[in-house]
Amino acid sequence: MRELASLVAGRPTVPDGPEHRDENPSRPDEVVATWWEATRSDVDRACRAAAEQARSWRSTPFHERAGVLARAAGLLGDRTDELGRELSREEGKPLAEGIGEVARAARICAYYAAEADRPVGEIFASPRAGEQIQTRQVPVGPTALITPWNFPIAIPAWKLAPALAYGNTVVWKPSPVTPVLALRLAEVLAEAGLPDGVLNVVLGGGDVGQRLLADPAIRACSFTGSTAVGRAVMTAGAEHGVKTQAEMGGVNVAVVLADADMDLAADKVVAGATGSTGQKCTATSRLVVDESVQDELLERIIERCDRHAIGDALVEGTTLGPLATPAQRDQIAAALDHAHTTGADVIRDGRRADLPDQGWFVGPSIVRGIAPDHPLCTEEVFGPVLAVTPARDRHDAFAQADAGKYGLTTSVFTRDLASALAAADDLEVGILHVNSETTGAEPHVPFGGVRSSGAGGREQGRAARDFYTETRTIYLT
Ligand code: NAD
Repeated sequence: MRELASLVAGRPTVPDGPEHRDENPSRPDEVVATWWEATRSDVDRACRAAAEQARSWRSTPFHERAGVLARAAGLLGDRTDELGRELSREEGKPLAEGIGEVARAARICAYYAAEADRPVGEIFASPRAGEQIQTRQVPVGPTALITPWNFPIAIPAWKLAPALAYGNTVVWKPSPVTPVLALRLAEVLAEAGLPDGVLNVVLGGGDVGQRLLADPAIRACSFTGSTAVGRAVMTAGAEHGVKTQAEMGGVNVAVVLADADMDLAADKVVAGATGSTGQKCTATSRLVVDESVQDELLERIIERCDRHAIGDALVEGTTLGPLATPAQRDQIAAALDHAHTTGADVIRDGRRADLPDQGWFVGPSIVRGIAPDHPLCTEEVFGPVLAVTPARDRHDAFAQADAGKYGLTTSVFTRDLASALAAADDLEVGILHVNSETTGAEPHVPFGGVRSSGAGGREQGRAARDFYTETRTIYLT
C-alpha cells in the first residue's frame, strides 16, 4: 500500500492535513493507498514554486521542453500494462480500458512534443516603411489544472502536455478519488527530465481547488468536472482575473433514425452507454429512436447489455467494472428508484441479484415510458443508464436531442446523407458523431461542449495552443 502526499518543488510534503483512504472499487476492503490532504501552506508553497520556476521554464528552448514530453511518451508507452493495472485497481475500469487510457496519455504527450516543430507566431505587413509587425505565442504563466477521476491519466495528460510544452509551470489538483495515478504521471514526467517545481501536485478537494484559484501567482486555470463545480470555477476565475476554461457535464444523446443500420446502432449505443461503466462525460445517456424501429432496436440493445461480463476490473474477461465510488453507485440507485416511483417502464434494472457480492456494482439499466423532460433525460446520472424516448420523425428527434441544457456530444445513426448533413447544420452540440458512438477524442482534434457542457474554449489540438499561450504583438522598427 502506498502512502501519498502532495508534491511541491520536487519533494513530497510533510503530512499535516487530514488523512484519507483510497479504496479499490472492485474490492473496497483493499486499501490501494492512504493520502494526506494538502494544507493551506502546501498550496501556497506549490504556487510559489510554480512562480519561481516560470521564467527558467519558459526560456528553456521549446525543443528541450518537447524532449521531456517525448521521453514521457516513451516511458508511458513502456508502462501501459503496469500503470493500466494501477488505474483499474484505483478507478475500477476494466483492465483493457485502463491500459488503453495509459496508451492514450502516451499519444497525447507525443503529439505535444511535436508542437516544437510548428510555427510559434506570424509576421504582418506594416503600413510604415522599415517596420515589421509580428505576433508571438508566449506562455500564459503559472497554470492551475483541476481534474476529475473518470480519466485519471488521459485528462491530466491532455492538460499537462500542452501547458508544459508551451512553457507554463503548473500546479495540478487531481481528483481526491485517484491520487495514485496522479502521482504516477508526475513521477514519469520527473523521470523524463522535468525540472523540480515546474509541476507541483496538491492533493485534496474543492477547498484546495478554490485556494489555488485565489493565489496571485496563478494566471490560468483549466478545469474538467461537473457543471456545478465548473460554474463555480469560472466564477472564481473571473473574480481573480484568471483565464479559465471549464469542460463540464453532459447528457449525450444517440438519435437513431428509421433508416439506420440497426445492428451498428445497437453496438454503438451499448458501447457508448456502458464503456467505463457509463462514467464518461461523453457517455450515451439518452436514446431518441424513431418510433417505427424502437422495438427492434431495443431488443438488440438488451441482448448486448446481457452479454456484459460484470466483475472485478482486474479479472481477465471482465467487460463492465464497478462504479468508482459508493456515492456514484448510490446516485444511480436513486435515479432508478425515482424512475420506478414516477411510473417509468424500467425494462432492465442493473441492480440484479447476479452482481458480485462486494464492490460498487450496477449493471446496464434501460428506462422507457418517460417524457423528454423527465430528470433521466435532463440531468446527468453518470452511470450505465439509458433513457429511451420515441420520436415521430427526424425533426422531432433532433428537437428532443437539443432540448436539454447540455451540449457536449450527440450521435446520429442514419444511412441518409441529407439527414447527416442536417444534423451537422442544426444540432447545438460541441461534437457530432454520425454512425459512431458518442464517446472518443483524438489528441489533434478540438474537444469540448457548448451550453452547460463547456465554457472558455476547446481543449486539445491547436485549440490547446490558444488557451495555454497569449498572443504578444510586437512592432519592430
Ligand atoms: P467534480 O466536479 O466533482 O470534481 C472535479 C474536480 O474539481 C475535482 O478535482 C474536485 O476535487 C474539484 N473541485 C470540487 N469542488 C471544487 C471547487 N469548489 N473549486 C475548485 N475545484 C473543485 O467532478 P468529478 O465527480 O470528479 O467528475 C465527474 C464529472 O466530470 C461529470 O460531471 C463529468 O461529466 C465531468 N467530466 C467532463 C468532461 C468533459 O470533458 N466535458 C470529461 C470528464 C468528466
